[in-house]
Amino acid sequence: MRTIGHFIGGKQVEGTSGRFADIFNPATGEVQAKVALASDAELAAAVENAKAAQPKWAATNPQRRARVFMKFVQLLNENMDELAVMLSKEHGKTVEDAKGDVIRGLEVCEFVIGIPHLQKSEFTEGAGPNIDMYSIRQPVGVGAGITPFNFPAMIPMWMFAPAIACGNAFILKPSERDPSVPIRLAELMIEAGLPEGILNVVNGDKGAVDAILTNPDISAVSFVGSTPIARYVYGTAALNGKRAQCFGGAKNHMIIMPDADLDQAANALIGAGYGSAGERCMAISVAVPVGEETANRLVEKLTPMIESLKIGPYTDEKADMGPVVTKEARERILGLIDRGVEEGANLVVDGRDFKLQGYENGYFVGGCLFDNVTPDMDIYKQEIFGPVLSVVRAKTYEEALDLPMKHEYGNGVAIYTRDGDAARDFASRINIGMVGVNVPIPVPLAYHSFGGWKSSSFGDLNQHGTDSIKFWTRTKTITSRWPSGIKDGAEFVMPTMK
Ligand code: NAD
Repeated sequence: MRTIGHFIGGKQVEGTSGRFADIFNPATGEVQAKVALASDAELAAAVENAKAAQPKWAATNPQRRARVFMKFVQLLNENMDELAVMLSKEHGKTVEDAKGDVIRGLEVCEFVIGIPHLQKSEFTEGAGPNIDMYSIRQPVGVGAGITPFNFPAMIPMWMFAPAIACGNAFILKPSERDPSVPIRLAELMIEAGLPEGILNVVNGDKGAVDAILTNPDISAVSFVGSTPIARYVYGTAALNGKRAQCFGGAKNHMIIMPDADLDQAANALIGAGYGSAGERCMAISVAVPVGEETANRLVEKLTPMIESLKIGPYTDEKADMGPVVTKEARERILGLIDRGVEEGANLVVDGRDFKLQGYENGYFVGGCLFDNVTPDMDIYKQEIFGPVLSVVRAKTYEEALDLPMKHEYGNGVAIYTRDGDAARDFASRINIGMVGVNVPIPVPLAYHSFGGWKSSSFGDLNQHGTDSIKFWTRTKTITSRWPSGIKDGAEFVMPTMK
């Protein structure tokens, strides 16, 4: 059985804790490898290593730091196919989707090639007589990232690229479900010219996360995962004096106005609801048609599309979606679908009994569509994180707007309409971080920032964009006067008062 260890000090090392987790092939249910779960001592050793390497990296001029990312982007492109297959094999998503995962991370690496410009700081000449004031953004030192299973390439890169470009050393604790790609990314960073010890991958579970959160040499923690853990990581990091940005779960709504192009909206819902088997934090899981006629027509259009979704293993190039990640995830999703039926929602398309010949032990769930879902139901309140779309019917625009406004989560939302006034009003009033107008999954590009509101995010700076440069650096402000300025004797008032 293949074992996956850690990546510390520029090379792969075996785990020494004696603890392992199984890595499954979600399409077959077979255990394909075991990943080591780090002990406190292993995490501490990785941090020591990172801490020792960091000052020299921080002192490397930003153009040289940028060049590592230039080369890394080239290597990502050259190794795209290998990375995508490696990713699909552990995650279960289709290879095309896995390439998207790598590409969305690659784009943030491209963005940080601009680090010489991005990390430039502010300068005021003559803030007082002969006084100059300037603020510089210095790296925080050693940063850490804790990532979820659903984007094992993109989210690690969203974290380590800006952190490392700013001059930090980094400890990545990937999801224990699909750790191979993160290790491969670290190898490619070394090949791209990154000094050893600057990017370390420490595999593990809650134990490794707690070791990160209590390690005094880690100054900043970025987390992406489910909301209960995001809340826990945020609180524990803060108690230990660390800055933290923690991104959690979602329940993304799409409002479909009576004037929307319904074919376009239905197509968008299929991609956004069922792509990656619904295991995306920006998946649409609630459709809100406005008016009975819109709802009837939409459900009529969606039903055959969902029934004909092609579901298969990652090796099937024609598959629209693959299995979900684990047996537990499958059982949780099926349990929630049963609950929705018990609660009285109308299960128009029932994918619970989906079986794929030759893959009977895979974690497949067929596409499901619920109609007449109401806000008091568990299937509405909870994040299902599977291929299940709920239709909540609204009588008016205000009623539709009210649903995402009152929902616990606030990651993404979309409106489909031809009316600019409705779209503008919606974008302005909605209390959600990322809004799509006739765009189903409004994931901002690398040079803007990504983050939700409400229980989808804890902390005040988003991922990538200029927010990420702020998160991974701290400000130092210098007020300076050169000796010629003190030749006139002691000063008793603030120089700026003169
Ligand atoms: P998860 O919360 O189970 O795990 C995330 C990370 O936390 C993993 O590295 C895991 O090892 C660690 N972890 C798990 N349990 C822990 C515990 N008790 N204490 C400390 N650490 C623990 O999430 P997941 O199932 O891997 O990912 C799916 C979730 O991530 C969904 O809720 C999804 O919406 C969310 N997500 C959010 C975003 C976003 O940007 N908002 C992006 C992607 C995924």
